[in-house]
Amino acid sequence: MAKKKKGEDKNMGKVAIYPGSFDPITYGHIDIVERALEIFDKVIIAIAENAEKRPLFSVEERLQMVRTLFKDTPNVLADSFKGLLVNYVAKTNAKVILRGLRATSDFEYEFHMASMNRSLNTHLDTLFMMTSKDYFFVSSRTIKEVTKLGGGVEGLVPDLVARRLKEKFKLPITKKRQISWDD
Ligand code: ADP
Repeated sequence: MAKKKKGEDKNMGKVAIYPGSFDPITYGHIDIVERALEIFDKVIIAIAENAEKRPLFSVEERLQMVRTLFKDTPNVLADSFKGLLVNYVAKTNAKVILRGLRATSDFEYEFHMASMNRSLNTHLDTLFMMTSKDYFFVSSRTIKEVTKLGGGVEGLVPDLVARRLKEKFKLPITKKRQISWDD
């Protein structure tokens, strides 16, 4: 019988945990999830409950958005966790932490976190996927800032997320009107 590989569970296949704030989820995150599904059988989007970050959306609101967006993709699950990521991952049988990398500015922080997590649990690995060229400049923080100031974020976040952002900032939700040459 073939030896069970790292990250494999007889019931679950290869599972990756994709942790983060997802405040809110963007197409940058979604792109990483979709590409990870080429490698893993299941991706669990794990929303970190960290009040210190003063999130715009509650954990429940973030979970609801992720679950709605992936409702037709049964191998993507959404969950939340408190405390140490490695403790949460240990409870799920996954062996891989998935993270996205944008510019070099992400590298140092991610390198420290991955090294710390490895030192806390030597059975876990962190896998990094490079951002796509379309989303290298997309972060939840800039999406919130731009929306708050009235800028459009179409194409960078799903419509559902754009609507939720406008609701939060009490901005009018209008359909984009095409401007024709006759206007
Ligand atoms: P955190 O607060 O833990 O950084 P985020 O929700 O901001 O959580 O991001 C979760 C993960 O997704 C991080 O690894 C981050 O680098 C990655 N990520 C965020 N935006 C993008 C993007 N546009 N392209 C690729 N990866 C991204």
